[in-house]
Amino acid sequence: MQQTNSDVLIIGGGIMGSSTAYHLTKADPTLKISVVEKDPSYTYASSALSATNVRVQFSLQENIQASQYTLKILENFEDEMAVEGEKPDIDYHAEGNLFIVEEKGRELAEKALQLQRSLDCEVEWWSPEKIREACPLYETGNYAGGAFGAKDGRLDAYSLLMAYKNKARSQGAVYIKDEAVEILTENGCATGALLASGNTIKAGHVINCAGPWAARLARTAGVALPIEPIKRQIFVMTPAVKLERPLPFTILPSGFYFRTEPGGMILMGKSLQEDPVGFDFSWDDKRYYDQLWPELAELIPAFDTAKLNRGWAGLYAVNTLDENAILGEWPNLKRFFLANGFSGHGMQHGPAVGRYIAEIVLGVKPHLDLSRLGPERILENRPLHEDGIV
Ligand SMILES: Cc1cc2nc3c(=O)[nH]c(=O)nc-3n(C[C@H](O)[C@H](O)[C@H](O)COP(=O)(O)OP(=O)(O)OC[C@H]3O[C@@H](n4cnc5c(N)ncnc54)[C@H](O)[C@@H]3O)c2cc1C
Repeated sequence: MQQTNSDVLIIGGGIMGSSTAYHLTKADPTLKISVVEKDPSYTYASSALSATNVRVQFSLQENIQASQYTLKILENFEDEMAVEGEKPDIDYHAEGNLFIVEEKGRELAEKALQLQRSLDCEVEWWSPEKIREACPLYETGNYAGGAFGAKDGRLDAYSLLMAYKNKARSQGAVYIKDEAVEILTENGCATGALLASGNTIKAGHVINCAGPWAARLARTAGVALPIEPIKRQIFVMTPAVKLERPLPFTILPSGFYFRTEPGGMILMGKSLQEDPVGFDFSWDDKRYYDQLWPELAELIPAFDTAKLNRGWAGLYAVNTLDENAILGEWPNLKRFFLANGFSGHGMQHGPAVGRYIAEIVLGVKPHLDLSRLGPERILENRPLHEDGIV
């Protein structure tokens, strides 16, 4: 059995772990950074199973600013992240996000729009007529209108993750295929991890980037996180009618969402109360036929003829206190840092969060003030909810 030493040990090499590794090695190339990843194929990582949406349409300033950061860095990301002349292809499409709103949701939607505008987001209110003008297939019925974010869109999340991973490795981060089975502690401090291979890594800082497995990992150090892995399913179908242009990423008040996918397809999903807690990746088409497709065809009657192509299931790491991220050092275990609990919106926040975690580990002033998302609120039972249109 081997013991190695690192300055920082990151557990989980998804978007959070890889973005953190990139920012740490960029800030200080002399640091010894180890990233332990049990599934380097990322078959089950949420980062590779997401709906890939990036939006500024949140009602919490921190979430808005983290998305703005992503949109900003995407402007020259591919040049910035090239490794030996090889550029990643992130394939960003700013097709816009449209949150369709009922009358009863309008006040909150307008409040969120106001906050977004005050932060210089390109967002506007669309009347039902404006929605039909932009999306003639939509049957806007009794909806009050919609909140539209022009810069929001979709990207290739796997390429984003790989870009961070490859660049972090080129800057010296070492990725290790293994599973952390226990966080090691001494005198109220995290000191490393025991791996499934029997090897240990001792480290000055330990960062939990284990996505849906975060609570299970934290428990090995006696840390109780209110995070549950909850299955969410995605479906992709081809409607008989051909679209003249892509649809915006559209979200209905029920939480049902859909967007265009290359090849004239439509991708959709919806979180439901009955979604099971646990590490269950099974997928079935019943929900699509019983609920999702009928809901879509009600909004877009032209989609009543369609072929289901494929789908998959992934896990949200749901923070059951308030469905928002938990970022920072755990107050009762020094040197144990968390980047966890992103629920359904972490992929787009990977760039900003990785930088933020690197900054607090290094003790420099963070580029964004995300301190309200700190773990103290968990211990003090102070939820920080989104309260707008999402
Ligand atoms: C169906 C679905 C749709 C989504 N849609 C969106 C969206 O449109 N926009 C958006 O922004 N977000 C979306 N999300 C959420 C987003 O995907 C996640 O919030 C984000 O990817 C979390 O990244 P992560 O690095 O924390 O977790 P992950 O990507 O899951 O990475 C965690 C990694 O840790 C590894 N690991 C875990 N435990 C250990 C251990 N003990 N030892 C070693 N390795 C370990 C895992 O193998 C995994 O690779 C969606 C998620 C799902 C499931």
